[in-house]
Amino acid sequence: MRNTGYYSQFGGAFIPEILVPTFDELETAYLEAKDDPSFWEEYLTLMSTYSCRATPITRLDNLSEQLGGASIYCKREDLNHTGAHKVNNVMGQGLLTKRMGKTRVIAETGAGQHGVATATMAAKFGFDCTIYMGAHDVARQRPNVFWMEQMGAEVIAVTEGSQTLKDAINEAFRDWVSNMDNTHYALGTACGPHPFPEMVSWFQSIIGTEAREQMLERTGNLPSRVYACVGGGSNAMGLFSGFFDDEEVELVGVEAGGRGRGAGEHAARLAYDDATIGVAQGYKTFFLQNRDGQMQDTHSVSAGLDYVGVSPILSHLHETKRVRFEAATDDDVVAAMQRTVRNEGLIPALESSHAFAQAYAEAPMMSKDENILINMSGRADKDIFTVADAIEDPKWREFIIDKAKGYQKGVNQ
Ligand SMILES: *Cc1c(COP(=O)(O)O)cnc(C)c1O
Repeated sequence: MRNTGYYSQFGGAFIPEILVPTFDELETAYLEAKDDPSFWEEYLTLMSTYSCRATPITRLDNLSEQLGGASIYCKREDLNHTGAHKVNNVMGQGLLTKRMGKTRVIAETGAGQHGVATATMAAKFGFDCTIYMGAHDVARQRPNVFWMEQMGAEVIAVTEGSQTLKDAINEAFRDWVSNMDNTHYALGTACGPHPFPEMVSWFQSIIGTEAREQMLERTGNLPSRVYACVGGGSNAMGLFSGFFDDEEVELVGVEAGGRGRGAGEHAARLAYDDATIGVAQGYKTFFLQNRDGQMQDTHSVSAGLDYVGVSPILSHLHETKRVRFEAATDDDVVAAMQRTVRNEGLIPALESSHAFAQAYAEAPMMSKDENILINMSGRADKDIFTVADAIEDPKWREFIIDKAKGYQKGVNQ
C-alpha cells in the first residue's frame, strides 16, 4: 500500500503489487500534465472544438417565479458531446493516454454512459477500446451497447457475480494487470485508487471554474448554494471545486433516496447513516455494506447514481461538513424532472433531476435576492424508457408493443 492520496482517513491505493509501477507511471504523467500549462490549453482547445465548452448557465425564469424564493440557475453540462459531463473526464484521460504513449483504453460501465463516452474518445484518438459491462446491464442497455460497437469498441459482457457494475470493475482491473504496457484504464468517476479520485476531479473542475465566473458575470454575486447529484461524485467534485475557497457558498450533494430508507432501497451513502467505512475496489470510503463487508444491493430510478461507494474526497468533505448531503426519492425526482420539462423546456437526466428536486424544495424558503446554481449533469434522452414507464404513458406503451410486433413479423416471414 502506498502512502499517497489520502483525504483525512479516506482514499489511498489498495492495489496488487503488480500494478504499482502502472499506478506510479499514471501518477507521474498526471502530475507532469498538471504542471504543464500547455496541457490544460490543449485540453481547453479540444473541449471547445469537440464538445461544447464553455457550457452556458441558464436562468429558470418560470420556476424561479413560481417557487417565489431564490433565483434558480443551472449549469448546462447536458450540452456536452455525448450528453453529459462524463466526456470532460474521458477526453482528459485520452490526452493523458497519448502522452504516455499508450494505444489501447479499457473502461467499466454500468448504465453504459461512461462506456459510450470512452468509445467516443477512442474513436477520436484512434485507440483500441474494450468496455467491460455486467451481462445484466448489457441486456438492459442495448442502445448504448449499439453505439459503443458502432464506434469500434469491443463490449465484453461480464457473467461473474451479480453481472453488474462492480463485477465489470473487477474484470477491467484483471485486463489491466495483463496489458499494462499498452493499455490505460479510463476509470469513470472520482473513485478508485489514487490518483483517480483527484485526477478525475481535476478534469471535471472545468465545470466549477466556468460556473463561478459565469455567475459573477451574470448576477454580480456568488450563488448562496450550489447543488449537484452524487453517484461516484465526479460532477459534484467538478462543480464544487470552483467554490471550495468561497466559504459563504453552501455546497449541497444530492444522493439517490430511491424508495426510501431501508437496506437495498436506496443508494444514499452519506445522507443516511446506513453506510460504513471500509476498503473495497482499491480505496477506502463509505460503502453500503453489511457487517461482513459484503456489498449491499442498491436501488435508484437513475442508473448512474446506484453505486455502493462514493468519492473518498466527498467522504472527507462530509466529515468536515464542507458539503451537506441530502437524498431525493425516486418519486420526487421524476416529479422534478417533469416540472422542469413542462415549465422550462429543459430535459435533465434522472441523475441530474436529484439536484433539481432538492433545489426546488429549498428555493421557496430563500430570499428573492439570493441565487442558487444546479448542475444539470446530463440530458434525459437515455431515460425515455424509464420515465415513460414511471409515468405509465399509454401511447408509449402502444408504441413499444407495435415495435415488438413488427420485429415478430420480420422473424416469422
Ligand atoms: C454518470 C452520471 C452521473 C453520476 O456520476 P458522478 O460521477 O457522480 O457525476 C450523474 N449525472 C449524469 C447525467 C451521469 O451520466
